[in-house]
Amino acid sequence: LTVITLTSECRVIYNMENMIGRGHYGTVYKGHLEFNDKDQPREQVAVKMLNAMQVSTDFHREIGIMRTLSHPNIVKFKYWAEKSHCIIMEYLQSGSFDIYLRFTAPNLNNPRLIGFALDIANGMKYLSGMGLIHRDLAARNILVDHNGDGDCVKISDFGLAQFANSDGYYYAKSKREIPIKWYSPEAISTCRFSSYSDVWSYGVTLFEMFSRGEDPNLVPMQTSQEDFLNRLQSGERLNRPASCPDFIYDLMQLCWHATPRSRPSFATIVDIITREVATKVAHPSD
Ligand code: ATP
Repeated sequence: LTVITLTSECRVIYNMENMIGRGHYGTVYKGHLEFNDKDQPREQVAVKMLNAMQVSTDFHREIGIMRTLSHPNIVKFKYWAEKSHCIIMEYLQSGSFDIYLRFTAPNLNNPRLIGFALDIANGMKYLSGMGLIHRDLAARNILVDHNGDGDCVKISDFGLAQFANSDGYYYAKSKREIPIKWYSPEAISTCRFSSYSDVWSYGVTLFEMFSRGEDPNLVPMQTSQEDFLNRLQSGERLNRPASCPDFIYDLMQLCWHATPRSRPSFATIVDIITREVATKVAHPSD
């Protein structure tokens, strides 16, 4: 059992045997917060132990960003125990969304998926309102919460997030390994990121959702980055997943508009989905 003191009032306790997963930067365990005040109940949390090598300025930046965020569709950051190299976050018991999509698929009907699409759009609307570009939006970076009202999803992994300049863009300096299948043409070709490149990735995330976790491959075989970009620039797009509602595929295509500013904003996406849900409730047989 490992105990880490977080404040004079509270500590986190976890067991190495309760590992949830391993990422690039560290290992995640299930643990709980315990308070001196015995009336305050224990709280389940996720404890991310960073590899000592990875505690770089990048990490301090990520933590700085996470600290400022507060939204029901963004994973809540709780503590940063600097000396122990660990981040404490709220625990989301149903795990990462890409796995959930693949394994819960038979029970995942379209109305539930549309609810998740709205959750993600709401979280992204909040982030873009803060001037923040996520740069790694994908089902693998979304976590699923299970609570009394059913499941909801939350955006996580702010390792690549950056604040936009006054012109709404962020220009990445280094071309590190990039999740190309989720990236817009301008992000791949000129490292130019904005809320509109996040909107493109949101469209790819919708594809993952409505295909129940399929890999978003534009072409079945391995192709070079250059060939992939050429295909995007000549207008090729992912196909409509079987059983994807028409309005969702229309929305995906709006997200994949070649011109960034012609894509809908996240606020518009929230409006489109909300309107569609309201129409369905009013006219269920349409
Ligand atoms: P990266 O390498 O980009 O960090 P990652 O998302 O796979 O990728 P982690 O964030 O370290 O890496 O997470 C590893 C796994 O732990 C995730 O796939 C997820 O299943 C689980 N996990 C992470 N955070 C939580 C959380 N707050 N609640 C529940 N499970 C979590």
